Amino acid sequence: MNTATLWLRGRSITVGSDWRFCEARIRIKGRRCFSSSPMTLVLSSMPYEKELAAAKKAATLAARLCQKVQKALLQSDVHSKSDKSPVTVADYGSQALVSLILERELPAEPFSLVAEEDSGDLRKESGQDTLKRITELVNDTLASEGSNGFSTLTTNDLLTAIDNGKSEGGSVGRHWVLDPIDGTKGFVRGDQYAIALALLDEGKVVLGVLACPNLPLASIGSNQQHSSNEVGCLFFAKVGDGTYMQALGGSTQTRVHVCDIDNPEEASFFESFEAAHTSHGLSSSIAEKLGVKAPPVRIDSQAKYGALSRGDGAIYLRFPHKGYREKIWDHAAGSIVVTEAGGICMDAAGNPLDFSKGKFLDVVSGIIVTNQKLMPSLLRAVKEALNAEASSL
Ligand code: AMP
Ligand code: MG
Repeated sequence: MNTATLWLRGRSITVGSDWRFCEARIRIKGRRCFSSSPMTLVLSSMPYEKELAAAKKAATLAARLCQKVQKALLQSDVHSKSDKSPVTVADYGSQALVSLILERELPAEPFSLVAEEDSGDLRKESGQDTLKRITELVNDTLASEGSNGFSTLTTNDLLTAIDNGKSEGGSVGRHWVLDPIDGTKGFVRGDQYAIALALLDEGKVVLGVLACPNLPLASIGSNQQHSSNEVGCLFFAKVGDGTYMQALGGSTQTRVHVCDIDNPEEASFFESFEAAHTSHGLSSSIAEKLGVKAPPVRIDSQAKYGALSRGDGAIYLRFPHKGYREKIWDHAAGSIVVTEAGGICMDAAGNPLDFSKGKFLDVVSGIIVTNQKLMPSLLRAVKEALNAEASSL
């Protein structure tokens, strides 16, 4: 019997001799992949293929723009390093590029993008110089792609591209989710940052791309020694298809997997470099209860998810301080990169992350990420540490 796998609401349906039943379901859901012939159903068995190709292209180009700005920033003097404008320029530039590339590569799809920036400040008189700089930078980056898909963009084109990121997301339809520079603090310090792009379909993350321009291609786990110090990684994953990594500058892709450690004594964990973004004290108490011996590996951005997906470490702990609400663009791409590599992402109470509620992720206490084997003991350690913290207040 011939079969094909169809994807609906992020779940697969195997279509066999009863394909007519599936066709009826697809029609009822109003999806575009319905067909009156089994042949077309088989063709639709490569879900999100062109979306992934477009996302990789967009994130790679945005990374090129950010690298250029970071290089200039690090070469600048101390005075201009305290100036926020390079980050602003790279943030807006990255968002505009991703928005433009996705729209160009996927012209047949309705376009919805949930992203961090809007053009409000750039439309003010005081933003005009910055707007010109961003437009120039985006035009230069597109020219370096060697593509003739765009004529020279005007400042108005730029504003429109940025404002295409105004969507609110949600549980209906498709939405791209973008953090144009995740880890701006790391970007300014010359450390890790990422361009994080994901696609939601009916509220579920179905693909994710993480471009990490400063992440070594070799493992960054503790006790690792490598001869190569080449940096720049592109991680990508699509639902049901595994996670892959390649060099940002181009190389063959390698499938990656989370580590299979089941003894916490051999595990190491990642957390934010910035103490303002997560409670280092709570992580240390969780690690102690779990029996982790290694010191934390502290790096910025969703590069942590990328590193975890290839087994550089075993655990990622994130416990923002009271009152902070996580945003979907800080976790959407990272979460699928880890889960497709065999890991699990949950909130501190063991709930799966729900990306269907708009811009915010409502999580209980924090986010924990690890492999299947360690998750049960990690959840117990988290519960104990949170209880101990509550009773000490
Ligand atoms: P990381 O580099 O992992 O520390 O995370 C960087 C992201 O943390 C940024 O992109 C922000 O969206 C987010 N962020 C900003 N402020 C906070 C905060 N107070 N607590 C937690 N995360 C934050
Ligand atoms: Mg971010």
